[in-house]
Amino acid sequence: MRRTKIIATVGPSSNKFDKILEMAVKGADSFRINFSHGTLEEKEEIIRSIREVSRKIGRMIPVMADLQGPVIRILTEDVVDIRKGKKYRVDYVGGGIWIPSEAFFKGVEPGDVLIVDDGRLLFRVDEAHRDHIYMKALIDGTLYSNKKVLIKDKEIIDAPLTEKDIRDLEFSLRHNVEYIALSMVRTGNDIKILREKIEEFGGDPWILAKIENPSGVENISGIADEADGVIVARGDLGQYYPLERIPSLQQSITYEGNRKGKITIIATQILESMRENESPTRAEVTDVFKSVEERVDAIMLTGETAIGRYPVKVVEWASKILEEADTRFNEETIFYNRDFEETLFDKFARGTIYMSHLLEGKIIGYTKRGNTARRLARYRPKRMVYMVTLDETVASKISLLYGVKAIYEETDEGYHEILERALSKLKKEGVVKKGDIIIFTVGVRPESTDMLRIEIV
Ligand code: PGA
Ligand code: MN
Repeated sequence: MRRTKIIATVGPSSNKFDKILEMAVKGADSFRINFSHGTLEEKEEIIRSIREVSRKIGRMIPVMADLQGPVIRILTEDVVDIRKGKKYRVDYVGGGIWIPSEAFFKGVEPGDVLIVDDGRLLFRVDEAHRDHIYMKALIDGTLYSNKKVLIKDKEIIDAPLTEKDIRDLEFSLRHNVEYIALSMVRTGNDIKILREKIEEFGGDPWILAKIENPSGVENISGIADEADGVIVARGDLGQYYPLERIPSLQQSITYEGNRKGKITIIATQILESMRENESPTRAEVTDVFKSVEERVDAIMLTGETAIGRYPVKVVEWASKILEEADTRFNEETIFYNRDFEETLFDKFARGTIYMSHLLEGKIIGYTKRGNTARRLARYRPKRMVYMVTLDETVASKISLLYGVKAIYEETDEGYHEILERALSKLKKEGVVKKGDIIIFTVGVRPESTDMLRIEIV
């Protein structure tokens, strides 16, 4: 069974029930909804479809709401044919071409280069006023509405959550999404602000910080402290940094996340060429394989499943490559080094994983809030860990963790009965056979793991 998980972004190519079902069957463990595009009605429909798929195939499928964050976008009434050398006026308020961002107009200066639509368009700012600018096109192209704008070598400082993000957050919590991802996170405090907002609205999703600009990279340690996980957002990182920096940035972000026991995810241009092609390039296959070497929890497919031609094939390929990589990564030594920050209960989890490797035993655990599952997953077990929980949302959340298979039970029995029941379920499925060594572990109190029991069944 594959231990590294797959997140697929749902978009115009893949937002119908049948496509979501197919992607799930072929290996998508989780779906991401990108709040930078589309309407809330569309998202409501997508969430409904994902929940239905989950029921249909009997597997927990966490939903990730990815908030746009303080991203600056350029809007246009009509598609504009951009000619190199020509001058364009951009306003703060609508009509023609406009950028409705106060922070942008505060930060922009003459001489700045604007990178629009991921570099498909480039402009130099000639004049910058309080509520409008004039800019000259540096290349030919086409300007579509709602495209991202970056100022080269400059970060625009804005509040971490826009009004739109707050509306989208409220919507997401109302629909009980398991994960909230925030784009363009700059500091740990950004995550604190998001957490406070979540508390205000009510809900307990796990928070993922998308690391995609220099502040995010520099403050990774503080961000990882506050968030439940980090995402290496290679798309935007590649706008702010020379591309040759991407591999080392990726390594340091995942390293920091892993050593703090946080969820780590690598995103964007995973199987990019499959937007057009039915199979990936050798280089892409190698990149996916190497992500397993970096010991991440999951890879996140973005454009290739959202707007690509072959969303289902993309998932199929990702799954195939990760499965192969997982089988090559089943050494006895566990994933741990002296840099790891550990509590007593983390050490308990490390011991549990050691034990399972040593005895070749299977772990069946009980987790109340998902913390025991997280602690076990961080040491990258070489066999699937089966985690039972009575909380449906927790079952869904932990399904994104490396090597964790969630079992959701509805019962008011004590955990001994619950574990026995999980055991007989796994026996029936043929996962556990007679003579197998089972390591039972239980975490009931907050932040703690309370029990370890070994049995030959
Ligand atoms: P996006 O984030 O798809 O929201 O831009 C991913 C990335 O930048 O890699
Ligand atoms: Mn991004």
